[in-house]
Amino acid sequence: SSLHFDAVVIGAGAAGLFCAARAGQRGLGVLLIDHSPRVAEKIRISGGGRCNFTNRELDARAPQRHFVGANPQFARPALSRYTPQDFIALVQHHGIAFHEKHKGQLFCDRSAEDIIAMLLAECADGRVERWQPCQVKNVVFSASSRRESSAGSYQIDTERGTVEARSVVVATGGLSIPKIGATDFGYRLAQQFDLPLVERRPGLAPLTFDGAAWSPYAQLAGLALPVAISTGSKKTRTTFHEDLLFTHRGLSGPAVLQISSYWQPGTPIAIDLAPGVHLPEALALAKARSRKLIANELAALLPARLADAWAAQSTDWQRPVNEASDKALARLAERLGRWELAPTGTEGYKKAEVTLGGVDTRALSQHTLEAKAQPGLYFIGEVVDVAGWLGGYNFQWAWASAAACAQALAPA
Ligand code: FAD
Repeated sequence: SSLHFDAVVIGAGAAGLFCAARAGQRGLGVLLIDHSPRVAEKIRISGGGRCNFTNRELDARAPQRHFVGANPQFARPALSRYTPQDFIALVQHHGIAFHEKHKGQLFCDRSAEDIIAMLLAECADGRVERWQPCQVKNVVFSASSRRESSAGSYQIDTERGTVEARSVVVATGGLSIPKIGATDFGYRLAQQFDLPLVERRPGLAPLTFDGAAWSPYAQLAGLALPVAISTGSKKTRTTFHEDLLFTHRGLSGPAVLQISSYWQPGTPIAIDLAPGVHLPEALALAKARSRKLIANELAALLPARLADAWAAQSTDWQRPVNEASDKALARLAERLGRWELAPTGTEGYKKAEVTLGGVDTRALSQHTLEAKAQPGLYFIGEVVDVAGWLGGYNFQWAWASAAACAQALAPA
């Protein structure tokens, strides 16, 4: 004979812990299973160890502003019903100190462990039973033959035995950072139940470039500066104003992580290395007034190392500014203001902060996150084709989708 639960939640990360806690607090018998020995490894490493747990600028009425996916509008009901303010209130209730960094991003003052401890306390409050490390071997659905009250039940075969439940919640996250436990379990389970998937690829990831083409810039590794970065055709253009970081292999930093979620393989990105500066004017002015080398003049507008490397790209730019031709200066202004380059790829799931694509939202209810054609089966968090910007948006989606699901599991 097998154990019975109202709901089995698979994946004890951000979404799974929160959903299990809320469903438990509503009186359901909940079992939470994770194959990792520790809960929420991703929360632990998030936000540089301080967990950027939400974002004050999230606009639930316009999810397309901060979320990507085939249909960002899908996230609207869940994001509207459980808001950043709701999560902030919970964090405050637990006495966790936090601060706003910039652009609405909220971080713990002390450590991401505070958020994990909070979620575990919420689970304890909901009498959630937790099994980990524990592998889930198989999930089988049996439609009920007679009873009208329920559509059927699930049998979940695990390393610790078989359990039965009316509902299964899949909260196994995306593919990024396999070394701390990411798997494709959620996608495979979706396929087992004939749910369509949107192709997965790394998002919020550093971009890489062809080795030979990149070598002039490799010496700039470690350099950071504010830029405007964009990609897409005129009609679909997306631009971010954030910091750029040069690495040995390519580009990273918030500007590049953000744009990587919009970048389409085979297309270029464009970077304004001196945003807010009218370069043609600044260089014309320098030419009229100065006899310094172009690199020295550029160093007033850019980090000196970048100014040097930039001027070194053309003999026309390796002379005193007053001796440069108008044409050479115009070309310099043009290239600094619009440095166009074609990434060869991203650094992949090893470095990506999120997975783009996932369970196709058309197959899910946007109010409950339940599979439309498979009663009792729910998908929440990153496994769904909803990915957020850098800045706390991914966690807010995890909390909000978890809350919507918990409410559906146990209507008040
Ligand atoms: P996860 O939190 O990844 O949880 C999935 C859980 O499922 C894990 O515990 C895993 O062990 C378990 N699991 C996987 N496969 C199986 C299986 N086969 N069987 C059983 N269990 C399984 N987002 C922000 O909003 N702010 C940040 O500051 C931030 N920083 C980040 C930093 C890094 C380095 C990374 C990689 C991501 C960051 N993110 C951040 C993104 C955020 O961590 C995720 O979007 C979020 O954790 C997704 O929540 P989830 O519950 O869906 O999945």
